[in-house]
Amino acid sequence: MHVHALVATSETDPLIPGTIERRDPGPRDVVIHIAWAGVCHSDIHTVHGDWGPAPFPLTVGHEIAGTVAAVGTEVSKFKVGDRVGVGTMVNSCGICANCQAGLEQYCLNGNTQAYGSRDRDGSITQGGYSSMIVVDEDFVLRVPSALPFETVAPLLCAGITTYSPLRHWGAGPGKRVAIVGLGGLGHMGVQLAHAMGAEVTVLSRTLNKMEDGLRLGADRYYATADDKTFVELAGTFDLIVNTVSAALPVDRFLGLLRQDGTLVNVGAPAQAMSLHVQSLLARRLSYAGSVTGSVAETQEMLDFCAEKGISAVVEVIAADQINEAWKRVLSSDVRYRFVIDASTFA
Ligand code: NAP
Ligand code: ZN
Repeated sequence: MHVHALVATSETDPLIPGTIERRDPGPRDVVIHIAWAGVCHSDIHTVHGDWGPAPFPLTVGHEIAGTVAAVGTEVSKFKVGDRVGVGTMVNSCGICANCQAGLEQYCLNGNTQAYGSRDRDGSITQGGYSSMIVVDEDFVLRVPSALPFETVAPLLCAGITTYSPLRHWGAGPGKRVAIVGLGGLGHMGVQLAHAMGAEVTVLSRTLNKMEDGLRLGADRYYATADDKTFVELAGTFDLIVNTVSAALPVDRFLGLLRQDGTLVNVGAPAQAMSLHVQSLLARRLSYAGSVTGSVAETQEMLDFCAEKGISAVVEVIAADQINEAWKRVLSSDVRYRFVIDASTFA
């Protein structure tokens, strides 16, 4: 079936309205009528070729919230009318050691991404900037009714990408956590770390968004453009989650960790980042990376958000505002996630 979508045709041309093809639902498939599509900085990196060439024409988007329109004959977890979500993965091999361990985001055979991946039928997957998607039920999330629907989509990437490292590295009471960059990922990281009971500091370039950061749950807020920040906070944090979309001076941020602390990069800049090993040695520090989270952990995160009464702070846009919205993301002029109203994809 053909469905409405926004389509990228090159690294430089604006996204244009068009149509894409969705497969006929198989027995295990859920057909989702998309209501809201979040705009992640990764969508922009992908189309702009920051991580290598993209397969054009391409529809991006991996923060999807919608309603089940139909289900295949073997689908047991969902029924027509359910509110559901889809994130960055739509399939994985299911048999490798990582998939067996419930870590399908690290599938050893490469999971199938929501867009730009080769699908089982050989086609290239097309993402959430569209009116409908067909997904295997094992990669569909249940959206708790307590979450305001238009705020849910960003949880499927920005939410889980910050939740997973916070959980993995033990953010909680007695832990000092810093979130670097107050954008889409950062504003979720602050809320989640606060809700987990950690003491939370925002490290943003300036103090422009300080009121928002404190309202979202930060205890402290510092400007990284001010050299004094790196003196005052030296040796402070157990965990730093770097959400920045550009390369940062890693050594400087390692200097903010206390004994056995970890700096985890979830930001995925185009450029390489270097560090001096000596920065790690002195206090047995770790420099780590993390990618999204598993399906089960994503469900746990959605339920946690519902229980704690937190969700994304969104600015709703119509489909024809997407190119302007991307420019605003690139200039960090977003408070704090754009979400496309999918009824405007016609
Ligand atoms: P975003 O909304 O644009 O936020 C990025 C933030 O980084 C900005 O708000 C800004 O924070 C800071 N920043 C931007 N440019 C900067 C620069 N030149 N120097 C210093 N700070 C800068 O982007 P996002 O959607 O949150 O995504 C952030 C990054 O995470 C992207 O690289 C994205 O691809 C990646 N990502 C990774 C995963 C994963 O699984 N690991 C998942 C999703 C996204 P301040 O204004 O507060 O300084
Ligand atoms: Zn994303």
